[in-house]
Amino acid sequence: MELYKLEKVSKIYHVANEKTHALDHIDLNINKGEIVVILGPSGSGKSTMLNILSGIDNPTSGKVFFDNKRIDKLNEKELTNYRKDNLGFIFQSYNLIANLNVLENVELGKELAKEPLNIKDLLELVGLKEHMKKYPYQLSGGQMQRVAIARAVVKNPSVLFCDEPTGALDEKTGKIVLSLLQEINQKYHTTIIIVTHNP
Ligand code: ADP
Ligand code: MG
Repeated sequence: MELYKLEKVSKIYHVANEKTHALDHIDLNINKGEIVVILGPSGSGKSTMLNILSGIDNPTSGKVFFDNKRIDKLNEKELTNYRKDNLGFIFQSYNLIANLNVLENVELGKELAKEPLNIKDLLELVGLKEHMKKYPYQLSGGQMQRVAIARAVVKNPSVLFCDEPTGALDEKTGKIVLSLLQEINQKYHTTIIIVTHNP
């Protein structure tokens, strides 16, 4: 089942007199439940692609469909609902709230969710149940990213966007984070879209 479809999507940024073709006539299909990796060097347009798929930015030309509906034509309110109801995000920087503990950070992700997952089960899955009273400064990078994953996944999004999720981690820890994403994909059938420059 097709979840995303891009037709001839281009994005051109204009800054001063400079034009940057960040995306040039991209066609792409992403099926429900897939894990998709978008691989390319820095500056190749990966974040631009994520921004367009997630409705944070609009293409200069072309069409973007989610569940057979155009999302490049939605108004602000429709876009907010699209993101709120369907999407989760994780980034290279974990963006945890420093003065909230693990449990509270994950609870934040539950706000406004229609059918949130059970937090304790999720903390167990990401291996942080014994650490749920700790604050971000008391955690390793890998643990912080696992909190960020739990926070993104707790609302049970149909799509999880991961922008360089292992960018700040060593290779071994990065692999643990990727295995966790795979487990989440299998357990919750979350469509996972990862962008990275690291093969
Ligand atoms: P990646 O994530 O693969 O490193 P980006 O999508 O961030 O690549 O950037 C692709 C190209 O578009 C780069 O040349 C970058 O400088 C340019 N770019 C990205 N965002 C903007 C913006 N908001 N304004 C102008 N140029 C941008
Ligand atoms: Mg980027």
